[in-house]
Amino acid sequence: CDICIQNSVHILQQSAAQRARRALSGLPKPAEIKARLDEHVVGQEHAKMVLSVAVYNHYKRIQARELLGPFDDVEIEKSNILLIGPTGTGKTLLAQTLAHILDVPFAIADATTLTEAGYVGDDVETVILHLLQNADYNVERAERGIVYIDEVDKIARKSDSPSITRDVSGEGVQQALLKILEGTIAGVPPKGGRKHPEQPLVYVNTRNILFICGGAFEGIERIIARRLRSSSIGFTAKLVDPVSTDNLYSLLRQIEPDDLLKFGFIPEFIGRLPITVPLHPLDDAALMDILVHPKNALVKQYQKLFRMEGVELEFAPEALKAIVRRARERGTGARGLRAIIEEVMLPIMFHLPDHRGIRRCIVTAETVEHGISPIYIYEEPEARPGFLL
Ligand code: ADP
Repeated sequence: CDICIQNSVHILQQSAAQRARRALSGLPKPAEIKARLDEHVVGQEHAKMVLSVAVYNHYKRIQARELLGPFDDVEIEKSNILLIGPTGTGKTLLAQTLAHILDVPFAIADATTLTEAGYVGDDVETVILHLLQNADYNVERAERGIVYIDEVDKIARKSDSPSITRDVSGEGVQQALLKILEGTIAGVPPKGGRKHPEQPLVYVNTRNILFICGGAFEGIERIIARRLRSSSIGFTAKLVDPVSTDNLYSLLRQIEPDDLLKFGFIPEFIGRLPITVPLHPLDDAALMDILVHPKNALVKQYQKLFRMEGVELEFAPEALKAIVRRARERGTGARGLRAIIEEVMLPIMFHLPDHRGIRRCIVTAETVEHGISPIYIYEEPEARPGFLL
């Protein structure tokens, strides 16, 4: 009877909502996500906050859709994310750490290697293939994963006036990426390689995959500055002076879709990346922090390696400063830190197992700057006092 039907619908509605609430309670809350990010990523407070909320909402959206099913009256749209900031500031690290926190599969793709279907290079489907591989070919798991697309700024059209020069290559890749960003059923050749008729395809729905795109977007600060100037003093504004690192971030915070359009992105592509997150250039203090503090800080990693040989590894404060100085000179953000510390530690680690009885190894500024041996302190200080090798 009608009353029974009404009652059943009501009961179903309630239990769907209850299940949704229960499932959400298992999802880490934004503050928890941010706290976990803090363990690995130094600084970037604003970015970590925006990402925590965005990612929480993303998975909430998936659960609402799955659990409420036909009772889901308002559809929440997918919000992919665009990270903008200089190289080596933690864009990849942020995306990777988020996937780790949420325990979802993760894949990194490089936009510069992607091509339109039919051209030589990787089809955009290879992005999904990597995710599928990292999900052990579990399609359902892959469909909730996170994909980081690096160097997305390199697929911008080179001219901001589409009518004069149409840089089809960049635009074509944007079009191809657009499809997987907005949600499509991607046919993926499970063994990789080009699609051909004999190879069976695995179908992956990209609707719930979170795409995080990242790039340095060199020069976009000028576009932003020019817009800000022209809006404040009219169209007579002259070309903007070179932008210093100090105000780079404050300009990036004011980015608008129009700036991305001028940079060379098609409107549909920009529309699919509604959350834009600027990253802060890293100063010396941040680089020092990165060396020492995160859970997997480089210094901690080397100390662990040395401990396994029974040696206590120390870095003199001046040695750390020297590493930071050299990294800053390279201009590749925190990326330079690893290369430099590896260079410094290589000869030390090469010889370490040959020395017997070393208790402590102290890396000094001279070790970092001139390759001078570190200070070794031996086990029996009375018999073999600490000396320079
Ligand atoms: P990007 O993607 O911005 O070019 P990455 O995330 O790949 O930079 O960072 C390069 C290296 O520097 C990684 O080893 C990463 O661990 C380290 N790194 C960069 N930024 C940070 C940060 N803010 N906090 C901790 N480590 C960082």
